[in-house]
Amino acid sequence: MLKTSLFLISMIDKIKEQEKIALLLDPPEDQRATWNRQILEHTTEFLNSLDDANAYYQNEDKGAGILNYDIGDESSSLPELLNGVKSHIEEDGINPASGGHMGYIPGGGLYPSALGDYLAAISNKYAGIFFPAPGAVRLENMLLRWMSKLMGFPENATGNLTSGGSISNLIAVVTAREAKGIKAADFHRLVIYLSDQAHHSLQKALRIAGLGEAQLRYIPLDDQLRMDVQELKSAIEKDQESDLIPFIINASMGTTNTGTIDPISEIATVAANCNIWYHVDAAYGGFFKLLPELEKEFEGIDQTDSITLDPHKCLFLPFGTGAVLIKNKKALYQAHQYTADYLQDLVEVEEEVNPADVSPELTKHFRGLRLWLPLKLFGLNPFKAALREKLLLANYFYQEIQKIPGFKVGPKPDLSVAIFRFVPESGDANAFNEKLIKAIQDDGRVFLSSTTLDGIFWIRVAVVIFRTHLKHLDLLLEIIKSEAGTLLNSKD
Ligand SMILES: *Cc1c(COP(=O)(O)O)cnc(C)c1O
Repeated sequence: MLKTSLFLISMIDKIKEQEKIALLLDPPEDQRATWNRQILEHTTEFLNSLDDANAYYQNEDKGAGILNYDIGDESSSLPELLNGVKSHIEEDGINPASGGHMGYIPGGGLYPSALGDYLAAISNKYAGIFFPAPGAVRLENMLLRWMSKLMGFPENATGNLTSGGSISNLIAVVTAREAKGIKAADFHRLVIYLSDQAHHSLQKALRIAGLGEAQLRYIPLDDQLRMDVQELKSAIEKDQESDLIPFIINASMGTTNTGTIDPISEIATVAANCNIWYHVDAAYGGFFKLLPELEKEFEGIDQTDSITLDPHKCLFLPFGTGAVLIKNKKALYQAHQYTADYLQDLVEVEEEVNPADVSPELTKHFRGLRLWLPLKLFGLNPFKAALREKLLLANYFYQEIQKIPGFKVGPKPDLSVAIFRFVPESGDANAFNEKLIKAIQDDGRVFLSSTTLDGIFWIRVAVVIFRTHLKHLDLLLEIIKSEAGTLLNSKD
């Protein structure tokens, strides 16, 4: 008896001893206030200096300085850590918060999204299943219904807030597989129709989905770099005559390379006639649907089976938020839904989808708040104006660059990506443009990336960040003109 209680006392002492140290994980109000202030000072300085900050930094150690901040038993001070973040992360590589970043499909990062993430992390609501967080799940589904309505999908369509377009494409591909009842023995007979301008995440999704043996039918482009619908039709007809299974057509609502929009509506007719799953990858271009003047380009998007969207592109959110919309709820569930003994307490409600039932994720970041907060705080009007501004800026660039002698452009931008190159009177044009982009990147005030189309080296301007305005395009034009001049005058 005495022995037991002594044992109990010593156990309680041990617990208390550990508790005292473990309590450091739950700092009191004054500690939190100090950290909040330090973070706020840091981010305020970051945002206030964005106008003068580079869009691209090339540090000699390529970020290796952060390796001095390795994990150990001892605690560190926040100001010291913030110094590390500033020098080795924020001021190194591409600066996706900068309006000067016009490479790839650039970032952005709306401020209220950071606050939404803060809220989500503090309450740590579990947004994967309805039962533990009914309001959180309803919020995410409400956002998806808004996107569905925007795309003209029926009310019973469903979807998921994903981490990005790649996972959205994956969800669409596995859902198509279930919807068409495809079995492993058929994989090698599947045909996927796409253009060589399709985003590589589609091929990646196919491989992850086990469909790596499927045949990719690259449909030729017309002279505007759009998928040629006649070619698509004849490719399908040919495959139907052989022992193949026409499976998915992937169209791009804004290609990553050039922002080109495939003929969405005409392809819809082909897909419907041939009973093929029609996926539109609108990761880049989808939210331009908010602009009524683009109604014609989006015609037929309501006829598709699945759509990939990326709020972290044209809704200007910080990275980590994509979306997928799918009409065939049954197939979406068939591809993803599981249950388990330890989930037996869950209570389902008919009208709300559990995000975990329609995605590879179970526990996940509560992405709804980072999306909902800016949309509600700002309303849609500034989003529409910013999107319209981006379209106009890309067209402004397209027009102005042609006024500089020697510069040639690709097709007129469908959305907010333009491509251009300098064609010198003599010598290798590709080599010249490679040097030109290197010079622009070395300057660092703006950042552009390049691509190759049919063996021709092109420089891309992608106007996507909400902080990119007229002054950035003027600066860009000035830098291009001056760097091209310098290259022309140099001997090598
Ligand atoms: C960006 C992009 C993707 C991939 O999306 P992530 O969010 O980077 O995973 C897919 N398709 C297109 C057309 C894109 O522009």
